Amino acid sequence: MDEIDNLKKTILNEYPRLHARDKFKFACHPGVECFNECCSDVNIFLTPYDIIRMKNRLGIDSREFLKKYTLTPIEKSQKHPVVMMKMTEDEKKRCHFVTEEGCSIYSDRPWPCRMYPLGFASPSDKNKKDEDEFYFLMKEDVCKGFEEDREWTVEDWMNDQEVREYNELGELFKEVSLHPYLEGARELPPEKMEMFYLVCYDIDTFRRFVLESSFLDRFEVEKDIIDKIREDDVELFKFGIRWLKFSLYGEPTMKINQQATDKIKGETKKQA
Ligand code: SF4
Ligand code: SF4
Repeated sequence: MDEIDNLKKTILNEYPRLHARDKFKFACHPGVECFNECCSDVNIFLTPYDIIRMKNRLGIDSREFLKKYTLTPIEKSQKHPVVMMKMTEDEKKRCHFVTEEGCSIYSDRPWPCRMYPLGFASPSDKNKKDEDEFYFLMKEDVCKGFEEDREWTVEDWMNDQEVREYNELGELFKEVSLHPYLEGARELPPEKMEMFYLVCYDIDTFRRFVLESSFLDRFEVEKDIIDKIREDDVELFKFGIRWLKFSLYGEPTMKINQQATDKIKGETKKQA
């Protein structure tokens, strides 16, 4: 994480800042001599929405996706769980989804793969103001895309890469991952780390937890929300954020069904 903190500092202090109407030259296509080079030996952190899109594209459960294609690095100073793409274990360390023709999950590729060569920085997480946020160019040595003539504004690039829904759900993710509770040296205790992982990454297991445990007896949840979260991963993630804010940070985002909770507690006592 120190490495990441240092990189953040360099970006904030040294990289030229780009905004929506600023221009840059770039193109990526099978004709560039570096085609596919950037899909190996690369650190790609996944957001909750990246995982939803990718596991649905592959037609597999989130738990299977996480096991096969991701790593969960654990660092000392980490405040909440993070998930990274796993590369192949041979010496090429390639992304599991790269083929001779390019990315095999292109229309569902994760946010960092869409955004490249743009990065996004938000210097002040605490009192965030729009003018604090900026884009910057990440010029990898291997990348010949900058030698192409195609000109973009930042805004055009973002539209072309279809990142709107990724950004909207990314903002929601920040409500729990950059929560004021985590400022300073504070980190989540292990059981809360697990809750965070469940909602943000293992969405299908979270669905089973909500629908197949006493969860819906313990909380008052609107009927239309229950109907939506049975099928819709994005709605389930939005609901999960509400639950995390309540359970991790004590915000009044959920209502407890006191009668049912007391009854469940009574029954558990009797059994004990
Ligand atoms: S997901 Fe696609 S674009 Fe991203 S690294 Fe893998 S192959 Fe490349
Ligand atoms: S290195 Fe740059 S130009 Fe080459 S494939 Fe990757 S993004 Fe495209």
